[in-house]
Amino acid sequence: MAEETKAPTAHAGASGGESRPERSGGDRPERSGPRGPRPGGGPGGPREGGRKFFRRKKVCKFCVEKIEAVNYKDVRLLAQFVAESGKITPRRLTGVCTPHQRRLSRAIKQARNIALLPFAGRAQ
Ligand SMILES: [Zn+2]
Repeated sequence: MAEETKAPTAHAGASGGESRPERSGGDRPERSGPRGPRPGGGPGGPREGGRKFFRRKKVCKFCVEKIEAVNYKDVRLLAQFVAESGKITPRRLTGVCTPHQRRLSRAIKQARNIALLPFAGRAQ
């Protein structure tokens, strides 16, 4: 009685089947959007446009009348260069040349201090 049990110790170790197929994900085509250079319409559009302020003659009043020093007591003169709000009108609107605008603004400030001109608001 010879029992030979040939147990076939062949455990199925061949469980080879775990090779996942590497799917190449995330490979969607990059959309090159419609962000090309815009035709025209860049910064700095058309600079034309109606001016709010009527244009005066662009000559310096003080140069024309040969006023060297602006007198701070000359309210009637100074008031021409003060806006209704009390602000000094900028040179680009009045056309006063730079040296005269400097004297003018100083004169206006002096006149304000002695209440000949308002700091804000309309002169009465
Ligand atoms: Zn001038």
